[in-house]
Amino acid sequence: MNYAIVVPCYNEEAVLNETTGRLLEVMQRVAEKHVDLQGRIVYVDDGSRDGTWSLLGSLSKQHPQVMGLKLAHNAGHQHALWAGLEWAAAHVDAAISIDADLQDDVNVIPEMIDLFLGGKDIVYGVRRDRPTDTWFKRTTALAFYKLMSKLGGDIVYNHADYRLMSRRTLAALMTYGERNLFLRGMVRTLGFPQAMVYYDRAARFAGESKYPLRKMLAFAIDGITSFSVRPLRLISIVGLSFMLVALGVIVYGLAAWLCGRTIQGWTSLLVSLWFIGGALLVALGVIGEYVGKIYAEVKRRPRYFIEETTE
Ligand code: UDP
Ligand code: MG
Repeated sequence: MNYAIVVPCYNEEAVLNETTGRLLEVMQRVAEKHVDLQGRIVYVDDGSRDGTWSLLGSLSKQHPQVMGLKLAHNAGHQHALWAGLEWAAAHVDAAISIDADLQDDVNVIPEMIDLFLGGKDIVYGVRRDRPTDTWFKRTTALAFYKLMSKLGGDIVYNHADYRLMSRRTLAALMTYGERNLFLRGMVRTLGFPQAMVYYDRAARFAGESKYPLRKMLAFAIDGITSFSVRPLRLISIVGLSFMLVALGVIVYGLAAWLCGRTIQGWTSLLVSLWFIGGALLVALGVIGEYVGKIYAEVKRRPRYFIEETTE
């Protein structure tokens, strides 16, 4: 049996030496416990612009367990991860996905593997707490999980993309055709025997976050719109209640006119004009989100291209 640790990297030259060392150390521990289990590290260079790829080249020469896939352009974290998982689905019995910065505790990998060998197909790594994240990141992330579950997307609270997947769940995942990837939600819809392991999340030990607020927001919107049509329904409900209010206003206006009272409602008219105009624009915007999604999906563009591998 064999397994792969899949690590997407975008401009991660500052962390890769350390990451490799720590992962190899954990793999050594796993190998001591399960002698017939072979591990590899698969780095996916997501079109980095720094020295990531040349570093991966030398790391793979130094350590036979390390290999690299180089994507032809920056496809984004989820697509890079998909590239690695697709490779894993074809080559190994289980894949563990983890970020390059090792904010997720590698010491639970043996536990994940034990659960896998015990028959679990998916093992979610779940953060106990976020003591090292900034207050802002913590609160926005929490708000996102809450909103997501309210809107009907089933995601594991405080689980990101640190998880183990067995070969058959990888194969199942690969049948999903969508281009807007939100892996933690997609994996949740697979079913199969599942388990969780808990750990404390550390701070990124070098380099900066590759997820600035702009990307985080885009990811959150993607997550919601790929997993729920409730925002669309919400628009209809809001629209309907506006029409009800408008009905009341019409009745009131007519009655006032019949009673011969002149209308002085310039202000209220202006206000409601703007308000309704705004509401319409928001509604159109939400619909546009979904139409945009459909547009991206019907093109069926490839998710990534592999430019080179270290093999
Ligand atoms: N990443 C990637 N492509 C991107 C952005 C990020 O492959 O376009 C990788 C990055 O190298 C890291 C992981 O995705 O391994 C998570 O990124 P990061 O740690 O910067 O995000 P954060 O932990 O701050 O949310
Ligand atoms: Mg990180």
